[in-house]
Amino acid sequence: MPEFDETVDVLVAGSGGGITGAYTAAREGLSVALVEATDKFGGTTAYSGGGGMWFPCNPVLRRAGSDDTTEQALNYFHAVVGDRTPRDLQDAYVRGGAALVEYLEADDHFAFTVLPWPDYFGKAPDARTDGMRHIVAVPVRDEKLGPYAGLVRGPLDNDRLGTPAPGSPAIAVPGSVAAALVTGVILSLVLGLTVGPLLELFQTAATLLGGTR
Ligand SMILES: Cc1cc2nc3c(=O)[nH]c(=O)nc-3n(C[C@H](O)[C@H](O)[C@H](O)COP(=O)(O)OP(=O)(O)OC[C@H]3O[C@@H](n4cnc5c(N)ncnc54)[C@H](O)[C@@H]3O)c2cc1C
Repeated sequence: MPEFDETVDVLVAGSGGGITGAYTAAREGLSVALVEATDKFGGTTAYSGGGGMWFPCNPVLRRAGSDDTTEQALNYFHAVVGDRTPRDLQDAYVRGGAALVEYLEADDHFAFTVLPWPDYFGKAPDARTDGMRHIVAVPVRDEKLGPYAGLVRGPLDNDRLGTPAPGSPAIAVPGSVAAALVTGVILSLVLGLTVGPLLELFQTAATLLGGTR
């Protein structure tokens, strides 16, 4: 048997969507190592558009007054996706999203809000055009990240085209990434310490969505 420097219950490769898995495992009491190949957190997830999450009937939407039903959401999803993926996988996604949001919201470091974005296939059965199936994480101010400040990947134009980095301390980072860092659940981290730009994109989103935390 080879000698390992460290042994953990869960090893997560990549700090995009995988960071939620790392957070969840740590919250459930498992030891976690999150490894990231680049010098910043976030991957594509950090600079993806509005960061909208299509999770029908979740508690955020319910509080906002949504009258959607899981059956209607399933009907829409099945019509759009068809048989390209197994039906039980589709059902698990649609039914599991609300439970995931409820689980994350139990941690005060996470906050979500409605992202009023219509379903893309508006003519499909039970499509919603009022935007009441999307939510987004409320951005967290970079200065709240302590030792991790500046380590979240920048917006597309900065990251890929080299446009000037936004420098304002008011610029926020995506809540889902930042909150996981703030809570300190990443028990082991392989990461360069380059201090990088923040997310102008999320400042814009924060403005649109009513501010940061
Ligand atoms: C402009 C844009 C807008 C988008 N908008 C939305 C949206 O609104 N809603 C939506 O649902 N989707 C959106 N998407 C798609 C979505 O962002 C991606 O599907 C999603 O972020 C992919 O997540 P991921 O965790 O698989 O990959 P990533 O977020 O890219 O994370 C992968 C991470 O793994 C790291 N990595 C790779 N190889 C290794 C290795 N060997 N060891 C360690 N680390 C490694 C990478 O460096 C990276 O950090 C958008 C995408 C783009 C580009």
